[in-house]
Amino acid sequence: MTTHTIINPATEQPVRQVEQSTAEQTDEAIEHAARAQEHWRQVAPGDRARLLRRFAELVDTHGDELAALETANSGHPMGAARWEAGQVRDVLMYYSAAPERMAGRQIPVAGGLDVTFKEPVGVVGLIVPWNFPMPILSWGLAPALAAGCAVVAKPAELTPLTAIRVGELALDAGIPEGVFQVLPGKGAIVGQRLVDHPAVRKIVFTGSTEVGRQIMAGCARHVKRLTLELGGKSANIVFADADVERAAATAPYAVFDNAGQDCCARSRILVEASVLEKFMGLLEGAVRGVRVGDPTAADTEMGPLISAAHREHVASYVPDSAPVAFRGSAPDGAGFWYPPTVLAPVPPDSVAYTEEIFGPVVTVTPFTDEAEAIAMANDTPYGLSGSIWTGSVGRAIRVARGVETGNLSVNSHSSVRYWTPFGGFKQSGLGRELGPDAVDAFTEVKNVFIANN
Ligand code: NAD
Repeated sequence: MTTHTIINPATEQPVRQVEQSTAEQTDEAIEHAARAQEHWRQVAPGDRARLLRRFAELVDTHGDELAALETANSGHPMGAARWEAGQVRDVLMYYSAAPERMAGRQIPVAGGLDVTFKEPVGVVGLIVPWNFPMPILSWGLAPALAAGCAVVAKPAELTPLTAIRVGELALDAGIPEGVFQVLPGKGAIVGQRLVDHPAVRKIVFTGSTEVGRQIMAGCARHVKRLTLELGGKSANIVFADADVERAAATAPYAVFDNAGQDCCARSRILVEASVLEKFMGLLEGAVRGVRVGDPTAADTEMGPLISAAHREHVASYVPDSAPVAFRGSAPDGAGFWYPPTVLAPVPPDSVAYTEEIFGPVVTVTPFTDEAEAIAMANDTPYGLSGSIWTGSVGRAIRVARGVETGNLSVNSHSSVRYWTPFGGFKQSGLGRELGPDAVDAFTEVKNVFIANN
């Protein structure tokens, strides 16, 4: 048994040792889940719903504790971490309405009757990244449990603490043993076993496109069901007819939220050339105003990066020769700090413009007309998020239909709402999470013909 030392990214102090699960323990957990799922699928829908509501209520009463744990483990500002714990509660509550609404259909056929059932897929392997440990756990967990599936979740090596605690709260809420298990450990061991074990019938993976590709290949061997939520390089498109003040004031929050460690980060700002100068002037004030610092302080907006290695990775996109237009601040001393950084002008073949940096670095590039803006937004293998700023409803509709991406906001920097579908186009993923149909992704449709003679 090996252990992993969790480091507080804001202080570089050790927080806790976490035991890493082995391949054998993973197999045992999967087999336990398979037995538990047989029972769980037969729990009456109303009782499954009640248990999910009780689980949500316990997450709510432990919200401050979960938030403090996330702040220590991931460096998320306390306000953001409270929102994340609240998201787990809300997502559980939202999907607690599903078990009693999982109705099939009755289809008229010659010689009898055909009825359909939505059957749970079985054991689900849920592989979670380090950037939003709580919300992303809940997006797979809640609809899977609602559908009657059992879940074996593998949090990221760096950020397992809140997932472990949420697993304990599930048991306290009365979710039966084995229905939801949390297995901290390495991707190449625990994650790989979830992909390879035949009793796991579906993988929900959120993480990098590179690992997502390997997981897709692994799932192909078993024709295993799969949802992929992968990387992004999203555009924030600002037209000259927009409220440029608002667009500039909110642009930092569309990309520097969670220190840019956000798959939805709008990390390419595209601005109509005629308002570029005005926009840059306003953006500079907004970026310098982002409050970066101690994540336990109530007014902090941006915390540190997750690790020293990740900070090095982010910094590699900003060499000494980089065209830094301006930057915000960051504390000195202990902690994996990196200041909000704006690069401009950036040629479209620069790696800072084409690759997902996953840190607080944004590029600004001008465009001349609507067609060019759409073409630039689409000139990427990714398609996860995006924002459009314009005063014209017609343009908003045209551009929204033209940009190849799964989640767009018009005149807003919002990206994820648990009651609307979320997922990517192109290499940003496969399938959708959240929204009213997410439970269907954890069911198989079965049709049964009943002869009438
Ligand atoms: P990652 O791909 O390195 O790891 C994600 C998870 O996969 C971790 O739990 C890791 O242990 C596990 N893993 C690694 N190798 C594995 C393997 N061979 N088999 C099975 N599991 C394995 O990603 P990360 O660095 O933790 O997260 C950052 C990435 O996640 C970014 O690219 C970001 O865009 C993406 N992301 C996407 C979304 C989305 O919803 N589209 C949301 C958050 C993050």
